[in-house]
Amino acid sequence: MQGYEEAEPTVRIREVKKDRVNFVLENVDLAFANSVRRAVMADIPTIAIDIVEIEANTTVLPDEFIAHRLGMVPLVSANCEEGIRYTRDCTCLSGCQYCSIELRLDVACHENRTMEVTSNHLDVVDSHTYADEGEAGEELTKRGENFGHPVGKDDVSLPPVLICKMRKGQELKLRCIAKKGIAKEHAKWSPCSAVSFEYDPYNKLRHTTHWFETDERAEWPLSENAKEEEPPRDDEVFDFNAKPGKFYFEVETDGSLGPQEAVMRGLAELQTKLANLILGLKSPPELDMLPGGDQGMAPPNGHVAPSGGGWGQPATGGGWASPTAGGWGDAAAPTSNAWGTSPASGNAWGGGTSPNSNNAWGGASAGGGGASPNANNAWGTSSTQQGWASPTQQTNSWIH
Ligand SMILES: [Zn+2]
Repeated sequence: MQGYEEAEPTVRIREVKKDRVNFVLENVDLAFANSVRRAVMADIPTIAIDIVEIEANTTVLPDEFIAHRLGMVPLVSANCEEGIRYTRDCTCLSGCQYCSIELRLDVACHENRTMEVTSNHLDVVDSHTYADEGEAGEELTKRGENFGHPVGKDDVSLPPVLICKMRKGQELKLRCIAKKGIAKEHAKWSPCSAVSFEYDPYNKLRHTTHWFETDERAEWPLSENAKEEEPPRDDEVFDFNAKPGKFYFEVETDGSLGPQEAVMRGLAELQTKLANLILGLKSPPELDMLPGGDQGMAPPNGHVAPSGGGWGQPATGGGWASPTAGGWGDAAAPTSNAWGTSPASGNAWGGGTSPNSNNAWGGASAGGGGASPNANNAWGTSSTQQGWASPTQQTNSWIH
């Protein structure tokens, strides 16, 4: 095991296909590798069918059954970050072209055979008839060609998703509204069908116990990844201080996002979360200055954006630029560019091609850290009015 404390994290891509990527992540902590896995799996926004209005259904499947199946159909969500807003952030009442995509399905069987209704029958409606329109934005221009279409529609090499089967005389007619969301809310918004990583293929660290009958090595065949590591010597002493530092990732998407976008967005989400955490722990200058304020009651100083710069300083290039005010940052931040100069490739770790790179860390420029519901407010300045910041609110709600 290497001492990853000194070495910089590296990413080595072993295989990229249309729907999957296999890479080796080195010199990071086990907890970090798992954080990446979980961020890619559950925190990346995509679009999926969220509302279904059924006009006619004489198939054998009940309405809710079909609605659930429609929700699970993957829709092309490339650049979902900028191409669509959350309905909760939109100024419309229930949905408009900036925060939803309308799809229709209208199929009837007139032949004397079993007919399959599939995702290929779903059509995106271009002419919108929304009663209420949200504030105009640039979302529509940021959408790719097939944004919102079922993945693999009109692609003969990809089998479509089966929704139901019908016989002669049966009919299915419905209207769907697809919305933006993340898989933490519902798995239908996950861009991935599988995200996994392996480490320590020889089980040198003894993080697992191999049950066996007679011969452990014969009954537990080694994975392909074992070729990348030194086999243990028979006389090797168990090193109880050793830590894993090399992780073999396999990310497989459902086609709504490409594997590269999924991983890069996952990393960006992770950065956003960590930035929020550090900002929340940072002492706000306003509170420190309060004369005679009840500092003991002050919460751990969350939710107040530092005046002026704070995070960001995108000019410094690499992430983790230390805040101007000092405090945190200076001590904790690795040398600048620590995340930007990975030898593996230019785009690893949020280098130039990161979707967020220009306004990483939620600088005030529009769209920075777009995932945060507060994006335009740069790390929650809005909460100064309603959060814990105001001393009156503290006395009102915390003491009594
Ligand atoms: Zn809207």
